[in-house]
Amino acid sequence: MVRDYEEVSELLDRIVEDLLAACDISRPPVNPKKIAHKLGIVYSEADLAGRRGQSYRRRGRQHVEVHHPDRAERKNFALAHEIMELELKKVLEDPRECHRWANLGASFLLMPTPWFREECLRSNFDLAELKNAFSTASWEVVALRTLSFSESLITIVDEGRVTRRKSSYPYHISKELSNEEWQVVEEVLRTERAEKQHFPSCEVTGYPVFEKQHRRVILRTTFDL
Ligand SMILES: [Zn+2]
Repeated sequence: MVRDYEEVSELLDRIVEDLLAACDISRPPVNPKKIAHKLGIVYSEADLAGRRGQSYRRRGRQHVEVHHPDRAERKNFALAHEIMELELKKVLEDPRECHRWANLGASFLLMPTPWFREECLRSNFDLAELKNAFSTASWEVVALRTLSFSESLITIVDEGRVTRRKSSYPYHISKELSNEEWQVVEEVLRTERAEKQHFPSCEVTGYPVFEKQHRRVILRTTFDL
């Protein structure tokens, strides 16, 4: 059975609410290891070669294993995926469908809808503040989740190249960055700080997400209508 996004969102919200209540988690950040522990899931890390995470039962216990070399946020996401997939399997029949919705579910678990919405409004969609509050999720996952709560564009620029661009506007948006957006990317790369600029047609905020060998800039663009 194919379910629509609305229906699945409501289901995921309910599952997350129950998990948080069962684990006495009353504010972010959500630590999925705490939830796994409470559910009796045995968590471990190993070199999974090409996989982010896997779950299996052994001697009557549920195990989740995640890819050891991954960054902490990636491991959190992989564990959250497996937790949500197991929870979905309790209510949905098709295991493929459970796996398919588990990534959305992982996002919901690390950034529960009511808390995330509230923090979006409080911070006026400041991605740095959101990342700070929902620290167990990655910058990219946090940035993309804001699309559910406002009309905007999120663009990931890796080493000066667009690798992802998603919009929540109900009309077509060019895949190419505008001159204004490039201007902000260059400014962030130069200053290594978050930069916000207002233009006649849009507002662009860029955030540096730099690692040793890799310079990523995340942009949030909104249009003045
Ligand atoms: Zn899965």
